[in-house]
Amino acid sequence: MENYSLLGANQQSMPIWKKIVIESELFEELTPLKKIANNLWWTWNDDAQDLFESIDADLWYRCNKNPIVLLQEVPLDRLKELSNDHEFNLQMKKVEARLDEYIYKREKPIGPSIAYFSMEFGLHASLKIYSGGLGVLAGDYLKECSDLNVNMTGMGLLYRYGYFTQVINGKGEQNAVYEEETFTKIPVKPLYDENGEWIIVSVDFPDRKVFIRVWETKVGSISLMLLDTDFEANEEYDRPITHHLYGGDNENRIKQEIVLGIGGIKALHRAKVNSDIYHCNEGHAAFICLERIVNYLSEEHLSFQEAVELVKATNLFTTHTPVPAGHDSFHVDLFRTYFYNYASKLRISFEQLLSFGKAHPHEDHFNMSYLASNMSNNINGVSKLHGEVSRDLLAPLFPGYSPEELTNIGFVTNGVHYPTWTNPMWKTIHKKLRSEKEPIDISNYSEEQESNIWSQIYRVHDSDIWQTKLKLKSLLFDDIQRRVASHTVNGTIDPSLVSNILHKFNPNTLTIGFARRFATYKRAHLLFRNIDRLNAIVNNPSRPVQLLFAGKAHPADKAGQDLIRFIHEVSQRKEFIGKIIFLENYDMEVAKKLVQGVDVWMNTPTRPLEASGTSGEKAVMNGTLHFSVLDGWWCEGYRPEAGWALPEERAYENQNYQDELDADTIYNIIENEIVPAYYYRDEHDVPHRWVQYIKNSYAEVVPHFTMSRMVSDYNHRFYLPMKDRKEMLEANDRQVVSDLVEWKTKVISNWDIIEVVNVDFEDGIRNSYIMGHEYVSRVSLDLKELQPDDVNVELVIATIEENPKIVSKDLFKINETLKESPFTHYELSLNLDKPGTYNYGIRIYPSNSMLANRLDLKLVKWI
Ligand SMILES: *Cc1c(COP(=O)(O)O)cnc(C)c1O
Repeated sequence: MENYSLLGANQQSMPIWKKIVIESELFEELTPLKKIANNLWWTWNDDAQDLFESIDADLWYRCNKNPIVLLQEVPLDRLKELSNDHEFNLQMKKVEARLDEYIYKREKPIGPSIAYFSMEFGLHASLKIYSGGLGVLAGDYLKECSDLNVNMTGMGLLYRYGYFTQVINGKGEQNAVYEEETFTKIPVKPLYDENGEWIIVSVDFPDRKVFIRVWETKVGSISLMLLDTDFEANEEYDRPITHHLYGGDNENRIKQEIVLGIGGIKALHRAKVNSDIYHCNEGHAAFICLERIVNYLSEEHLSFQEAVELVKATNLFTTHTPVPAGHDSFHVDLFRTYFYNYASKLRISFEQLLSFGKAHPHEDHFNMSYLASNMSNNINGVSKLHGEVSRDLLAPLFPGYSPEELTNIGFVTNGVHYPTWTNPMWKTIHKKLRSEKEPIDISNYSEEQESNIWSQIYRVHDSDIWQTKLKLKSLLFDDIQRRVASHTVNGTIDPSLVSNILHKFNPNTLTIGFARRFATYKRAHLLFRNIDRLNAIVNNPSRPVQLLFAGKAHPADKAGQDLIRFIHEVSQRKEFIGKIIFLENYDMEVAKKLVQGVDVWMNTPTRPLEASGTSGEKAVMNGTLHFSVLDGWWCEGYRPEAGWALPEERAYENQNYQDELDADTIYNIIENEIVPAYYYRDEHDVPHRWVQYIKNSYAEVVPHFTMSRMVSDYNHRFYLPMKDRKEMLEANDRQVVSDLVEWKTKVISNWDIIEVVNVDFEDGIRNSYIMGHEYVSRVSLDLKELQPDDVNVELVIATIEENPKIVSKDLFKINETLKESPFTHYELSLNLDKPGTYNYGIRIYPSNSMLANRLDLKLVKWI
């Protein structure tokens, strides 16, 4: 101190900084705005969006349409003005009343209660907890479940950085920018328990606990819980677990999946949410099965097998991935690190636990889809074709059965949430076609009725449809101008190039959109296979075409990034400038603008790698015609004169030849069908043929790919039957569960010792069969401790290909007259009516009406 004064300085001369936060306090009158901003309901309510935009359109756009940020940043003067603005206040009150009414009508949701787990949720571009299709589907699903008053709780992760923002530099290189999220700027709130304490749960890691905060976001009437590890209770190295979506290594992935699966079940438990059904959207959350078993063991004192039965009955696994590599799996060493001790909680050995994630004992990875499949009586793919593909992929879990027999694997084709994706102008047109109100709960939705309503579109004048489309296109063009111009702000594009682009781009030109993840199987490159031909199409003097591209490539996917660079490079060539544009940072906002504004939406995946795809479904809801490979949803959706399709069958094994052929087909369809239909006009410049396509697409395609239809399908195919089964199993103090377990145990312990005493079925080679004659065949078994009707004996006739296709299946009957015998005799009288050479086989499998389905107990014995 003295030394300081000697030098003429003292402590007070050092700056002392303390933090103050100046929060914008809304005027009393404006508080409803906060309420509206804090329920994601606004993301599918057009009046709410208009209301926010009317506060400050420029700011609204700059803050990515995030109303919480908007309200934090709008200047005091403007707030003053608004609070005195009568018109604004009226509008605000109207929107608030609509929200209140919406919630009030849904206070008592109906049907089974569902917990829906997903690694990502795409609810709005400003809530960066999604990357692409899987997340958008989950977000749309919650919204529709809210609309249809389904009793649902969502569970996901709250990412600090989420997925990346894409910046493309002048060379076409993708830079992945991760923006840190401040949780006060998004509509999440801590979730409190009944004592007013923030719910924090923990999961056990090898030598420590990881704590998880539970947040809540409101999606209409539905609560979505979001889990986060980035806070002080955790060690520095555990805080980043929930930083990035699909970032980090496999070890971080297993940690995230533990947080989501095990932490998620704990969070529900602490929040006292008791669900009938647990729905795993993709295998990421499959650890929920294990934690649910632990709960049954420790709290309800069930045996392990009983717990498994209940979990299997009430777990639904939706798989989204058509290639084996897409299914998450962890090396057993990694899995052991995190699950070695967990086995004892399950009261089984670690080896047994490991077996749930494998198809063969020698495999060295623990597969999350196998875990989910082994723990779910019900599995589904996301389109009809993908359901079949999933049967092939999961077939290793069901040895003894051919893929087409896996009836436990069904499908529900994905849909999209109409209010989120459809432009208000179309909504106004569609509303006039409806005589009645929207269905307000799941019990009064009917696909047939919807179809009838949509077919009213033929009553609308062609010119009204065409004018709407043109207006939407010009809105898209305004948006593109804004986006392209903002590139210059970043200094990434030469300003003269920008003015050239904007000058050339023309709203009257046929515009094709292509935007999606830049995974190579999506084949964004197809259009560029023959640049001369593309040039001729694009630069046709009287009937030009322009193309819009957008999409992110995963930061680890070099091939995808190369493709972006290539398309970017082509778009900068003299002949394509302003005719081909690559838009940065494909997200839900860009997607919305594109699907609403372009004329044709194109999708060219390698079949069958597009499990469903949904962007085309958004497009058709906006009078945008779909042109795609017959894959995923389009396999079911395509109708002639309601869009265009690339033929279904693969012509070449060689992918390069196939690409060449497909590219050629694409050029032909554009030149010979799409361009003429678009440019053929009447004297008022209306393209009637084109409008007819739009109408057909509304009438025949749209009603089948709405999210309402999808929710209804899940309800009828899965939730309701699963709830029934749950009640059946739990009746009389869970008597059926214990009977079932007892029976399964008996079957399993006898299965390998069942003896085939006699088979009386002539080999058709030695002794050929004559069509139309009746043959009796017999099988005699020594069933040991099993009863005759504990097993079924089945004759299977199949084609003689390498992978035989089953032609017919016939069950043997028990021969009651031979009851005295120590063996059980089964008989089948067979009438062969199709000439030819076949494979036949006889197999036995366990049978019991308590089983969920034939694959419930996977035993089968071919004899
Ligand atoms: C709809 C949507 C997707 C999914 O579309 P696909 O047809 O599966 O490619 C992906 N990303 C965003 C941002 C979307 O809005």
